[in-house]
Amino acid sequence: MSGLWSTALGFSEQRLIDAAMEQFKQLPYYHNFSHKTHASAAALAAKLAELAPGDLNHVFFTNSGSEANDSVMKVVWYLNNALGRPAKKKFISRQQAYHGTTVASASLTGIPSIHRDFDLPAIPVHHLTCPNHYRFARPGETEEVFSARLADELERYILAEGPETIAAFIGEPVIAAGGVLPPPRGYWAAIQAVCKRYDILVVIDEIVTGFGRLGRMFGSELYGIQPDIMVLSKQLTSSYQPLAALLVSDAIHDILLSHSGRLGSFVHGLTTSGHPIATAVALENIRIIEERDLVGHVQRLAPAFQSRLRAFADHPLVGDVRGVGLVGGIELVADKAQKQPFSQPGILGSYIFKQAHKHGLIIRSIYDTVAFCPPLITTEDDVDAIFSAFERTLSDATDWARSQNLL
Ligand code: PMP
Repeated sequence: MSGLWSTALGFSEQRLIDAAMEQFKQLPYYHNFSHKTHASAAALAAKLAELAPGDLNHVFFTNSGSEANDSVMKVVWYLNNALGRPAKKKFISRQQAYHGTTVASASLTGIPSIHRDFDLPAIPVHHLTCPNHYRFARPGETEEVFSARLADELERYILAEGPETIAAFIGEPVIAAGGVLPPPRGYWAAIQAVCKRYDILVVIDEIVTGFGRLGRMFGSELYGIQPDIMVLSKQLTSSYQPLAALLVSDAIHDILLSHSGRLGSFVHGLTTSGHPIATAVALENIRIIEERDLVGHVQRLAPAFQSRLRAFADHPLVGDVRGVGLVGGIELVADKAQKQPFSQPGILGSYIFKQAHKHGLIIRSIYDTVAFCPPLITTEDDVDAIFSAFERTLSDATDWARSQNLL
């Protein structure tokens, strides 16, 4: 699982440790508030602007993905106030989306257990149908028709609420923590067209998909998305240091700048955001990803990884297998023909989670969907080892499910 979908370079990359130690000697701390910065934050911002698609040339750092998504909301609200559109404030997200756990980012998250008893959502947000073809397509509906229906749902919602009240659509290129859900074919093109029609910003949360996970530097490249705002974290530093970033377009930046000029300052920041150690580690991490052509490596390894994953599709416990690049999910069901979930969701998933450890494998169970997300340095032999261990785990799980009358 690369920790939490995040250690691109695995757990023993000496160069990242050295980069941190070197930075400690140069400058252990400085902040990025009120017109201050330091060399490694500035260099990383420039590097991210160079890598990011389109004109996403302006970077704001935070310490976590949740804070970055909270900052996105503040930036979007501030922007629309600057533009004299005080009513244009609502966010649109999706069921099963994961955008964080702080008050505002958890509100964007579309997973019921993250809201329950926390009095969330606490900001104006609407969650659209999850783009999960296996679960939510109508009988016989193709992926393209399903995507068009979801875009239509988006448009109807916008028209019902009034486009002048909707600020932004946020989504992960591939939903990760919500069940490993690559988009159905045509989804992003259809969604972006609707957003464009009603002047709604497209915010792309690349916290899992950024830096090569899908065989492109960013998931946006794979799916032809042109974000107005992009959010990064996790593989940005291989999670050796806490760091996240949001990137905004030139057009957004110009407005933020002139509005802040009028108000006196852009009054948003965090004491340790863009921390020198974290930004130095991120720079070295990206250098290594580029030097070793890990994005190309993922492209070359993905066919083997995906075909081993898909080999489980015929197993009686397996309802759906999905994935792209070096991320995959296997959804387990009680009745394959009826796509019937287990009556007590997550029981088999937790058994598999524990049993996989016994076979030397760390997976993640999202209720009864098993997620695989190995580091980008994974080799073909590792892929073999991962799925051989999972084969043994699944065989144990089948016996156990029978013994527990789960089937
Ligand atoms: N967005 C996505 C897509 C994520 O996967 C995560 C973390 N799993 C977050 C946001 C939140 O990041 P953090 O845990 O660093 O706050």
